This record gives sequence, structure tokens and C-alpha cells, in this order.
Amino acid sequence: MKRVAIGGIAIECCTFSPLLTRLEDLSIWRGAALLALYPALRAYPDIEFTPLVRVRATPGGPLVREVYETLIAGLKAGGPWDGVYLDLHGALAVAGMTDAEADLTTAIRAAVGPATLMGASFDLHGNLSAGVVANLDLLTAYRTAPHVDVDATRARAINLLVKSIRQGTRPVIAFVPIPMLLPGEMAMTGSQPAGRLYASLPAVIARYGLLDASYFVGYVWADEARVGAASVAVGYDRAAAEAAAHVLAAAWWQVREQFAFGMPALPVDEAIKQAIHAAADGAPVFLSDAGDNITGGGVGDVPHLLERLIAFGVSRAIYAALVDADAVAACFKAGRGARLTLTVGGRLDTAHGVPLRLDAQVRFLKDGELRHREAVIDVNGIAVILTERRTAFTEEGQFTALELSPADTPMTVVKLGYLFPDLQRIARTSLLALSPGAINPEVRALPYQALRRPMFPLDEEMAQGGGHRFTGS
Ligand SMILES: [Zn+2]
Repeated sequence: MKRVAIGGIAIECCTFSPLLTRLEDLSIWRGAALLALYPALRAYPDIEFTPLVRVRATPGGPLVREVYETLIAGLKAGGPWDGVYLDLHGALAVAGMTDAEADLTTAIRAAVGPATLMGASFDLHGNLSAGVVANLDLLTAYRTAPHVDVDATRARAINLLVKSIRQGTRPVIAFVPIPMLLPGEMAMTGSQPAGRLYASLPAVIARYGLLDASYFVGYVWADEARVGAASVAVGYDRAAAEAAAHVLAAAWWQVREQFAFGMPALPVDEAIKQAIHAAADGAPVFLSDAGDNITGGGVGDVPHLLERLIAFGVSRAIYAALVDADAVAACFKAGRGARLTLTVGGRLDTAHGVPLRLDAQVRFLKDGELRHREAVIDVNGIAVILTERRTAFTEEGQFTALELSPADTPMTVVKLGYLFPDLQRIARTSLLALSPGAINPEVRALPYQALRRPMFPLDEEMAQGGGHRFTGS
């Protein structure tokens, strides 16, 4: 029986965050629970799948080095294997290290030896590098943003790996970096040109006789040389894969000026004014506090947009959320219904936020396990959610658990970028506020030092008609 090991570290890490991702921030799967993440495995009764360790975390700062080393030891354990499947993100950062996925795949390749086939699946918001590609035999990535094809992507990677093991064939990967910074909010696959580019993949796969092809949008909130978009082709014929990857890169590059935010993106005060107007015309309106987007790795404690909502006199709204363990503790101490003066936020991301003093009434308390408590306070009619740990509110159920209903509230502010499908379903209007924080969607404002140059749109020579050329038929 052929033996395949499964594991991986899938964390999107913002190197501009002052926080680190620690052991207590991780969700960890081992054993049967790990295998249960991959229903696709049931299709291959002739393969023995061995779970190693698989972790994910809410996007955040770089992973603590010691935690990473411990996880790597787990990923190197056991063997020998006919194949290894790695479930990765592609934007992992480890404190004191660059190109963490290159380190990870190099360590595993060294442990399993050159003969073992190694395949991986990625989030399309990963930053692929030649160092990673050199260690792998095949890879694929999501084709939708928001990501609704997670299981399908994993299944594709597993299928390609098993197929190659059964046939005794070794695929090749062609990888073409595209020197472009593209925030995820500008490359949603329900919008153009991203939708069209992703939709072209099956035809390119067929035309070049490939096994698979992918586009990487990349992840811009990291200061590393590998940051940027990319195209990938996987096949058995090196020349065909190279040609296809270049054609895909050229198609992407050609429309680089056409990528735009998938919703109106405005300075904070402008965004609030438009949200007030839209809410009067027809609620519910969702306003993304994009600079402090937790799903992009933002800290989640910048209270600037809340301060502005109060200044504008907004009186029927939900604000989700601020991470502030001290404020949550104060609410629990005061009790439901109590009035108190609180100072919230601005303590973690001190580069972008200052603490905000509020007169509030405790409206709801959600007890939970250690560091999972949440409180809702009322501030002039705004229901402000406070959390003990960084929490992205992406689904309606998270609100209803706090006796809040975004569907029946004129305006809901979320620390997200684009809305996840469950909230998109409710929203009549969604707006992006270009607010302060580590996840600033305006790439020209980010403090890059290690980025490779020239890079679109930072450098003039990369504008339309600029100097970069992709070859290919
Ligand atoms: Zn993603």
C-alpha cells in the first residue's frame, strides 16, 4: 500500500503587525480529526494516509519562532512516504525569518528525501517563491475570492498527488512571478478582471495539456522580496508548462490597470457620510474598517472609525468589534445593564490608534472559555462589541449570539475588507473605509523596504506600456 503523509501550517501573517502569532492563537489538528478535514481522502482506499500536524490561525502577526520549530519537527516525523500533501496558505511569516514556506518545504524535503512526491495547496493570497516551488512536485491554489472552493482545491491537490504516485510519474511546475501589488479587495473573483482571468484557467489547462494551473493574487501586507502576484502551470511537459505560465502571466499583466476595489472605497469621513445616506435610502449598510481588517491580519483594536461614527451622531449601528480584554473584564465586573466610563482600544496597534474614552451601558455579556468572552456596550445607540481575543465577525450567527441583528440594523461596521458570503447575503450596500491600521489597502502608503523593485503600481516604469515583458506563445 502506498503511504501519503498530510500536514501543514496555514497562517496569513502581516509583517506590519506589532503582534506575534503565539501557540494559544493556533487551532491544531492531529490524528483522525486532521484526516476528517479532507473528505476527498475517502476516494482513495488503496492509499494509506498518515496525519502529521495541521495548524491554522486567524490572520495576524508573524508566528513565534519556537512554535514554528516545534511544528516543523512534527511535520518531519515518520516516513518513509511515497507522497506528502501540505495544506499551506502561502503568506506565513516566522519571527526572524523571511520566506517561511521556503524554509518549511526545504525542511520537509530534506527529511523525506528526493524520491518522495510532494504536493501542496495554497490560498490564492499566498506569495509564492522560487524557493518554495523548487521543493514541490505539484501545487494548486484557490480559484475564488471570497474562498468558496477550499474543499475543491484540497481535493485537486490530493488527486494530482495520488494520480502521480499511482502512475510513478513526476510532474514539473512552471512559475512566473508577476511584479504587482494587489490588495485582495481589488481582486475578488466576482468582479472583473479577476473573474475573467480565473475563468480562463480550465481552457489554458486543456490547450497546453496541463495537469493544473493557478493564479496567485499575493498578499501585500508583508515586507518580503517574494511579495507579488504569480502564475503557475503544472504538467509533465516542461516546455508546455513554461509556455502556459508565461501566457497566463502576460494576460494578467495586460489588464493590471483594470483591477479596482469591488465596492466604493473612500476616506473614513466620506465613507461614513455615504453609509448614512445609503442607510436612509435602504438598510442594511455594511461599512468595512479596512485598515484594521482582522481577516487580513489587522490588529483589531484601532478605534478611529468608532470615534468618527460617534462624532457624526450615528445612533443606530453595530460596531464589530474591538479587541480589548481589559474593557471586557470591566464590563463583566460592572454587570449587564450597568453604566460605566470605559477606555477602549488603541493599546495594541499604537502606531495607528489611540485609546478612546466612552460613556457606555453594558447591553449584553457572553461568557465563554478563557479569553473567549465578549461584551456588547451601548454608546449613544451604537452597539459596540468588545472581545477578549482578536475575532473577525464574518457570519450572521456571531451577531445573533450577542442578541444583535445586522439584517435589522441600518448600519454595521466590520473589521473586514470584502464581506464574507454570509454577510454579503444580508448587505444591501457595502462600502470600504480606507481607515488607519496595519492592513492599509492603499499600497503606496505601506512602509516597504524588502520588496523587489520595480513593482506595479509603485514604480512609474511599470505603468501601462511599461518595461516588463512576459514571453510565451
Ligand atoms: Zn485568502
